[in-house]
Amino acid sequence: MSKLDDIVSLCKRRGFVFQGSDIYGGMAGTWDFGPLGVILKKNITDAWWKYFVEDRNDIYGVDAAIIMNPRTWIASGHTATFADPLVECKECKSRFRADKIAEGINESVTTEEFLATHTKCPVCGKENWGPIRKFNMMFETHVGAVLPDDDESEKGKNVAYLRPETAQGIFTNYKNVVDTFYPNLPFGIAQQGKAFRNEISPRDFILRDRECSQMEIEYFVKPDTWEENFENMRSLNHDFLENVMHLPKDKIKEYEVPAEDRAHYSKRTIDFMFDYPNGEEELMGLAYRTDFDLANIAKESGKSMEYRDKITKEAFVPHVIEPSIGVERLFLAVISSAYTEDEVNGEKRIVLKLPENLAPYKFCVSPLLKNKPELVEKAHDVYQKLKTKYGYVTWDDSGNIGKRYRKQDEIGTPKCVVIDFETLEDDTVTVRDRDTTEQVRINISEL
Ligand SMILES: [Zn+2]
Repeated sequence: MSKLDDIVSLCKRRGFVFQGSDIYGGMAGTWDFGPLGVILKKNITDAWWKYFVEDRNDIYGVDAAIIMNPRTWIASGHTATFADPLVECKECKSRFRADKIAEGINESVTTEEFLATHTKCPVCGKENWGPIRKFNMMFETHVGAVLPDDDESEKGKNVAYLRPETAQGIFTNYKNVVDTFYPNLPFGIAQQGKAFRNEISPRDFILRDRECSQMEIEYFVKPDTWEENFENMRSLNHDFLENVMHLPKDKIKEYEVPAEDRAHYSKRTIDFMFDYPNGEEELMGLAYRTDFDLANIAKESGKSMEYRDKITKEAFVPHVIEPSIGVERLFLAVISSAYTEDEVNGEKRIVLKLPENLAPYKFCVSPLLKNKPELVEKAHDVYQKLKTKYGYVTWDDSGNIGKRYRKQDEIGTPKCVVIDFETLEDDTVTVRDRDTTEQVRINISEL
């Protein structure tokens, strides 16, 4: 088994992440977060929100609707260009993303270029391909009362899409925020939420899924200051990843995306790559989107997106710096950095060395013996006290102490607190550290 398989297996065994719709045999490209996964994910998204919104004065939050007026996606360019190169094997009818099954080509590959790679079908092994077709990745839906036997033109009137990115929910609220809060430039608008991409071949666990969560900021700046603001966002994001998420610095690498590979709206993009167990993959993107989005919204809506400087009265359309993180990608980076196998007393141990600010449970509390009511009662008091102070705390009185420790190690609980007979006499407890396995005796009041 690869390390990624070990992590997938741990995530399932311990209730972090399950296959979506598992009970019906699954639903490709979807994943469900279990009781511990939800807490870890929330700790991650809350930490981001605190760092970029709550602790600052210049970034506002929004939570926009997932289904937006379809003109949004015409203005943003998604209707025309949000597509992957699809290729079909004429022998077995399997469909693939061309740039993912052949070496040395990118998303803009032509049929000729693809055929020249002489790629064999990963399913049947033959080499008999149809032409490259552009497959739009937006999920289409119908809004309102549309019947299956309505003709296509009737259906077409009601077409809408599940948003493929959270960014447009921010851009379409730019004017609302300016008109209600009169912010000084530069200022940002942040949003966290679901985004949907109909990936041709979802893979790599939660790295390439069809439904994901994003955390995005559009930071509006004066056009001639984009470079300094870009640099500022770049270092803030390094700080967040390295000092709040505690990802190892040497696993994060920047990749300056060359002009021909950049998204249609970007004048400069840096991908922050992360060294995942199955290889380097994009963790987040930092893009200079110019005034592309606001200018297109102005055109499509007929409304001015100009910002008027309060002092100079100069009016202009701001430019935008956009840091964008996939929550699941960050979740997997956190969990795979924490995943460790070591040996304790000659026995193999799996331990999730999650940073304390992200670990689902801060403490596990147990009575040494569960058939001694006085120990159980005392342990319950300690449990309640810690829960009130720290939030998520877990209780475990199953099996022997060694087994309890092993379980807490696997879910990343930093400290285990054990109540024994000595506790009843002097109010001291044993506190066992997850990473070092060392135990110390301290007073309850010091917890
Ligand atoms: Zn085939």
